[in-house]
This record gives sequence, C-alpha cells and structure tokens, in this order.
Amino acid sequence: MNEQQEKQKVWEQLEKLAEDAEQRAADSFRKAERIAERNQWKVIKAFQRHKVSDFHFTGSTGYGYNDRGREILDLVFADVMGAESAIVRPHFVSGTHTINCALFGVLRPGDELLYVTGKPYDTLHKVIGKPGDGKGSLQDWGVKYAEVPLLSDGGLDWEGIEKAISSQTKVIGIQRSRGYDWRASFTVAEIEAAVQRVKALKPDVLVFVDNCYGEFTELLEPTQAGVDIMAGSLIKNPGGGLAETGGYIAGTAAAVQAAAYRLTAPGIGGEVGAMLGTLRAMFQGLFLAPHLVGQAIKGSVLAAALFEEIGFETKPRWDEPRTDLIQAVRFGQAEHLIAFVQGIQQAAAVDSHVVPEPWDMPGYENAVIMAAGTFIQGGSLELSADAPIREPYIAYMQGGLTYAHAKYGILTALYRLVDSGLIVTKPYIT
Ligand SMILES: *Cc1c(COP(=O)(O)O)cnc(C)c1O
Repeated sequence: MNEQQEKQKVWEQLEKLAEDAEQRAADSFRKAERIAERNQWKVIKAFQRHKVSDFHFTGSTGYGYNDRGREILDLVFADVMGAESAIVRPHFVSGTHTINCALFGVLRPGDELLYVTGKPYDTLHKVIGKPGDGKGSLQDWGVKYAEVPLLSDGGLDWEGIEKAISSQTKVIGIQRSRGYDWRASFTVAEIEAAVQRVKALKPDVLVFVDNCYGEFTELLEPTQAGVDIMAGSLIKNPGGGLAETGGYIAGTAAAVQAAAYRLTAPGIGGEVGAMLGTLRAMFQGLFLAPHLVGQAIKGSVLAAALFEEIGFETKPRWDEPRTDLIQAVRFGQAEHLIAFVQGIQQAAAVDSHVVPEPWDMPGYENAVIMAAGTFIQGGSLELSADAPIREPYIAYMQGGLTYAHAKYGILTALYRLVDSGLIVTKPYIT
C-alpha cells in the first residue's frame, strides 16, 4: 500500500467506527428527533396564532416606530418560550450584551445578585466586575454579587444557598449550560425545582437563567418552569443559523420591560428600534431552530459515543439526557485538544484552509482556541469547537446545521489526531 492508500484505509476505518457508534446511539438519536418534531410544531403553532405574514418580514428604518414585524416577532418568541413577554433584537450585539441588559435591567444599587450555579461563563466576569473597577460593571455600580459553588457531584449546594440568601438578594442567577466547565448542565426540570425552592426561601426574589445553548433541546423552556427572566443569543440555537446577529430576553412583562429600558433608554424600551433587513432571517431562523438544534444534538451524541469508544472521557456521556448543545471531551493534553479543534475547522465549508491557533480573546481569562468555519461569524449553532487552553484540556464542541456536517467534522478531527500520531488506537487502525 502506498501512503495515499494507507490514509484512505484509516479514513474508512474511522467511518466504520462512526457507523458503529450511530448504531449504539440509535435510541438517543430517536429521542433528539422526537423533541425536534414536537418543538417544530410548537413554533409553527405560535406563528399561526400570531398570523405571521410575509409583510412582517419587511424591516423598518430610522426610529422603527410601529414596526409590525418586530412586534409580532416579540409576541411569537414570548409564545414559544411560554413567557409573558419577550424582546428579540439585532441590537443585542452578543449573548453577553443580552445578559448584561437583563441583569442591569432588574438590579439596582444595593441589590444582590446571587449565582447559585458556581462561577458564571467567562465573559460575564467583567459584567459583574469589581467594586470601583471604573468600568461601569454591576459591582462598580454598587450591585452586590455572591456565588455558591456547585457541589463536587455537580449539584446545587442547598446548604450554601440557604446561608447565602439575604434580605438584599434580589436576583438568583442560574446558568443552564456547562459553559467552559466540566460540569453537568441543568435540565429544565432541575431548574423548576430550584425556582420553587429559592422562592420558598425568599418569595420576592427573581430567578434569571442564562439560557445560552439550551433553547429547543427539551420540550419546555425555563420560562415555562417559573423563571422570571432569561436571555440567549441568536447566533446560537434560536437564530436557526439564519439570524445574522442579535439576542433575546423573555420573561415577565415587568422584567422584560426593565431589560428593554436598559437596551435602549428608559421610557423608550422596545417601542423603538429599526429592524432594517433582519426580520425575515429571524423569523425563518426561529422556524428552523428546532430542527437544526436536533441535528446538532445528534452530532454531539455521535461525538460522545465515538470519543468514549476511543478512551476519552466525555460529558455528557452519549446516553445521558441533554439540555444543551455542548459536548465536552476531555483530552488531558494541549496538543490533542488543539489538533481536535483544528480538525473541526478543517471540515468546514467556510474557511477550511485556516488553521486556528490559541489567542487572547477579549473577555476570556485564558488563551482560547476556536474552530469557527461558519457562515455567521462566531455562530455556534454551526459546527464549532472552542476551548480555553487550560488543564485538563477539554474541548467543547457544539452545533452543526446538518448532522452530516457534524459527523464528518468529528471524523476529520479524529483523523487529524490519528494521522499526527497523537492517538494510536486499537486494532481497527493497522
Ligand atoms: C455563549 C454564552 C454566553 C455569552 O455569549 P456571547 O455571545 O459569546 O457573548 C454566555 N453564557 C453562556 C452559557 C454561553 O454559552
């Protein structure tokens, strides 16, 4: 065999390995498909109730007064999320900005924000900030902050939470997804139980959920489980790969109003804001989101089944329930992690010729490597992988607008590991 033929043989063996993993995970795949179907119908029903028509896709300019499309989009989103109200805008520049608006909207100096799911996502550390940091962070404005770390088994530390809740506690923060942490994500049922418990301890507390990566992975959303306000990014799940930018906040009318005042200005809120040409993509993206989330989940399940077979630890495991898109694979060594991320990039339709390297990204504490060969810059409902370069070198992959892309991306990453001699696997690679 010449070198080319040998490489081809390895590739075919890896394809076979993936097909075996697909068979093993058939039940998990079916579960993801069932959820996608139900959520697809849920979204269509919401469109129908609000009589979405093609004239709603025409954007406004200037102030954007009486933008019917924008108003209907907010109503449809609220309906889908089972919330009283929602604000969906291209003017939210990122997930972090959206969460920032939600938190600044409902917190006042002297109030306390208590995160009960441990350290929040990296980019939020600077939003929370420090007293006197001069950046206008929450703590700089006099909002107090505390967090209760998760227990070693990943559960909520109720003893710690009970001790931490005080008369000043105004908002309880919950991060649904694992973010860049080796921990479990919180299911909607777990969030519901937590809401009931914190409200029993302090009835006037508001529960905020960072819902990034969670939308449409389950049949219900946190706002259908008693959460007062939640936020997410449109270049993740609910943008359906089509929304070009933006975020959403859903929750009680009062909380969404407060966040809208923060996004624009007090007294203006969501009544103003030209949607320009963004509406069609936002509506159509929402329509597609349940299906695409299902495709991405199947990709994550495959990655877990495959990498577990090869001997890496994964979270969640392939047969565990899922409540977000993220698949963590623990590589233990920086070279493995970097090769994996580079392999994901190599399989992209866009920018496959670019080799990602770790860099110091604004808002993150460690150097970060990201594979984002995406149509939307940083869009992570599209197949992507990222990782802070820190021990124990865990890759977080997510997305895939089509299952086939996720599958071949995972295969390409695996092939890169094998081809560069970083993993010498069992008999199937001879
Ligand atoms: C992505 C993400 C964010 C921040 O979103 P950006 O769009 O990157 O600013 C916040 N929290 C979680 C859990 C996320 O996954």
